[in-house]
Amino acid sequence: MDCPDGSPGHFRNFKKDDFEADWIKVAECRFSQVYQVKLKLWREKCALKSFDGALCANNFYRRIIDEAHKIAKLKFKYIMSIYGQCSEATAVVMEYMSNGSLNNLLASHTLMWPKKFQMIHEASMGMNFLHSMKPPLLHLNLKTSNILLDDHLHVKISDFGLICWEEGMSKMLFMERLTARGNISYVPPETFTQCLDPPGTTFDVYSFGIVMWEILTQQKPHAGCSVTTVLLQVSQGKRPHVEMIPEPKPPECDPMVSIMKQCWDQDYRKRPQFSDTVRKTEALSEIMKIAGPIQNDKNGYKISLPEMPGFPSDNQNGQGGILSLLSKKDFGSFRQSVKK
Ligand code: ATP
Ligand code: MG
Repeated sequence: MDCPDGSPGHFRNFKKDDFEADWIKVAECRFSQVYQVKLKLWREKCALKSFDGALCANNFYRRIIDEAHKIAKLKFKYIMSIYGQCSEATAVVMEYMSNGSLNNLLASHTLMWPKKFQMIHEASMGMNFLHSMKPPLLHLNLKTSNILLDDHLHVKISDFGLICWEEGMSKMLFMERLTARGNISYVPPETFTQCLDPPGTTFDVYSFGIVMWEILTQQKPHAGCSVTTVLLQVSQGKRPHVEMIPEPKPPECDPMVSIMKQCWDQDYRKRPQFSDTVRKTEALSEIMKIAGPIQNDKNGYKISLPEMPGFPSDNQNGQGGILSLLSKKDFGSFRQSVKK
């Protein structure tokens, strides 16, 4: 393992042989494969994201490594740590997140309101950190598959810097890069209009609005629509349906929905900064923590979480983490336990 300048915490160049022989494939996408690997020296699991050789020929890998090199210096609780590269495998090596992506979790488990609010708040903290850099570090690829979950279901933003706007780049090429990743739902309307400005922080704020909707509804935006349909609808100001947020909702949901709507405002100048959003999501998330898993809905129904023995809780009053989450198959029986 080479450590170019010898300083601790710096970007390392790992050899394939630095890892134990068994590499477990976690995911395979169009551009990359993600493996769980174990570093012999640290005895620690890492994630190795290996990029497709064809793309690497196109200078793609070099550009990603240049970005990753800068990003590796950043450390914050709600963003993914990058350890280095493994050039033999055209790969970036990073922290391993045992609970995978938010995208997968939203599809497989029903989240309770306090956990939804906490995840929204933690994601906004990660984004606020990136945008607080000078100049702001734009993500441009924020989506639920790039929000990863640790052992206690706390979130970290990943894969920032994978897509970037290059000086002199045409809008068409930029759009192609985004749509090739299936990101169309997260792209703000000004990107596909004639406006030639490079993307700014408001691009990520829009994507965050869509992420909020996905967390609140546990649905996929624009499901079943073609890219053209999404482009047309979004440019006309249409957004995913707020009515899809499931009932019963806590009263704190309305202010959360207003933040979401501001984030995806058609006029990018009206979208808030993360420094503003994060204060609001903090307040709402705190209220939900105090309200806890026992709440009265508007019809006077008591909603209580069943005990889930064996699952760790991760905050002082024992309401966070996995206690706020049920697998989708358990949720049917949970609903029947709602009592007057
Ligand atoms: P993009 O390349 O645009 O980021 P993507 O996020 O869909 O697209 P990958 O980044 O390759 O694709 O990630 C695919 C999946 O691999 C994620 O959804 C997640 O389940 C898993 N994954 C990625 N990084 C890690 C990690 N550091 N730890 C654990 N699992 C990871
Ligand atoms: Mg990713």
